[in-house]
Amino acid sequence: MNVTEIFYSLQGEGQLAGVPSVFVRLAGCPLRCRWCDTRYAWSAEQGDPMPLDDIVRAVRQYPCRHVVITGGEPMMAPDLPDLTVALRDADAHITIETAGIAHDPRIACNLMSISPKLGNSTPEDPRLAHIHEPARFNLAVLRVLLDTYDYQLKFVVDAPADLDEIEAVLRDLAPVNREKVLLMPQAATRDELVRESPLVADLCKQHGLTFCPRLHILLWDNRRGA
Ligand code: SF4
Repeated sequence: MNVTEIFYSLQGEGQLAGVPSVFVRLAGCPLRCRWCDTRYAWSAEQGDPMPLDDIVRAVRQYPCRHVVITGGEPMMAPDLPDLTVALRDADAHITIETAGIAHDPRIACNLMSISPKLGNSTPEDPRLAHIHEPARFNLAVLRVLLDTYDYQLKFVVDAPADLDEIEAVLRDLAPVNREKVLLMPQAATRDELVRESPLVADLCKQHGLTFCPRLHILLWDNRRGA
């Protein structure tokens, strides 16, 4: 598999925020989100090829059970099912961070952490928007993921108007357990996170949805590999 990086940290987002976890960042993503903070993982070719056994060995050297498979978009990696089965056999707790745009039924996963991409993710550059817009959202795939796995839905909020789109998505996906729906501020730096969090907290209270921390930004200002 093409791997961008493997590192040990704390899960920064979602219901497992704060849990020590090994992150396996797979290379390659077909989307071009405007605010993407892992552009270095867009190209599959820029990752280092690693056999599955080496990935499992690298993961097991750390003192934790939790493994977060992220990207890029890990669901696009052809060997993802084999990696998840190997990690499950090694007794890992597997979280997959995905935009929810592809699925393979052979994937083993304890928590499908889905971040559907809203209109606020579309890049301004028309060439990138042309790539991004038709691929960013797939209702049929989201439905399958919600029906198949324990899940959380994490939405990036850029402005109050985003809540109209989020509520429309939740209606289209109904029934959705709203306790598993989280809103997180669009922020790439600690300053932005502190500035934008109160607005998102108010929106969480208005809509009865959960505020999603972004610990890695708060603690390390989104430093790569921290
Ligand atoms: S899906 Fe994730 S990795 Fe891909 S462009 Fe969007 S934010 Fe970046």
